[in-house]
Amino acid sequence: MNIAHLLAPNPGLFTGAGTNTYVVGGDRRALVIDPGPVINEHFDRIVATIAGRETVGVVVTHSHPDHAPLANPLGEELDAPVFGFAPGPDFMPSDLVGEGDQISLGDEVLEVVYTPGHSDDHICLLLGTTLFSGDHIIGGSTVMIDNLSRYLASLEKLQPMALSKLLPGHGPEIDDPAAVIDYYISHRREREEEIVMALENGARSVGAVVTDVYQDVPEELHRIAALSVAAHLRKLTEDGLVTFSDDSASDLWDTLVGMVRS
Ligand SMILES: [Zn+2]
Repeated sequence: MNIAHLLAPNPGLFTGAGTNTYVVGGDRRALVIDPGPVINEHFDRIVATIAGRETVGVVVTHSHPDHAPLANPLGEELDAPVFGFAPGPDFMPSDLVGEGDQISLGDEVLEVVYTPGHSDDHICLLLGTTLFSGDHIIGGSTVMIDNLSRYLASLEKLQPMALSKLLPGHGPEIDDPAAVIDYYISHRREREEEIVMALENGARSVGAVVTDVYQDVPEELHRIAALSVAAHLRKLTEDGLVTFSDDSASDLWDTLVGMVRS
C-alpha cells in the first residue's frame, strides 16, 4: 500500500500551504482522500497519480470548500463512488459513511472514525495505524472549531488508539500522534481557563475577551481569534458557567457575554 501526497495550489490564511490530497492504493486499486477545490491542474495531477488503476472511491473528511468540491467531478471522471458523512455546498456524496464504516481497498480497508467539532460532518480515516486526520488535527497551525465540546470529545476518542502517524488536511505529517493529541487537549483547557479569567476580570464582550487573552497575538489575527473565543464561550454556556447572548449584537465582536459563576 503506498500513499502519494499532492498539495493543492490553494495557499491561504485557513489552508496554510494548501490542502493535502492523498492518493492511497496498491498496484490495482486506488482511493482519493480530500481532492480539494476545483482547480484544473490539481485535477489532472490526481488523475495522473491514479495512473489507470481502478478507483474504489473519492472520500472527503468534511464538506468545507477547501476539501470537497473536486470530489464529484473526479468521481464522474473516474467512474468512482464519492464518500462523505453528509452533503455540503458543492458536494453531494453518492455514499454516506459514518462511524465504523469500512471502505475496501482490496487487501486493506479504510475505516471511518466520526470526529465532529471542526465541523459537524467531520470524519477521520484509519488505515492500519495511520490516521488521515483532515482538519481535526492539522500540522503546524491552529484548528478552527465549530463546537468545542464535541471537538474535545473527538480528540479524547483518539487517545486510546495506538496511532503511529497522522496525515493531516493541512501542514506536514505528524509522527508523534499521542503527544500532539495530548497537547491539543491541554492547550484548549488552558485557553478555557484564560477566558474564564478574562470574564472574571470584567470582559463582557467577545472582543474584550480576545483583547485580554490574545495580547501576544498580532491584532490582524484578532478577528479570527474571536471565532475561537466564541466556540469556547458556547462550551462554557453548555457547561452552565456563562450566559452568551448571540442576539445582542449583529457583530460577533460586540456580542455580549455574562458570567454566571466563577
Ligand atoms: Zn481545511
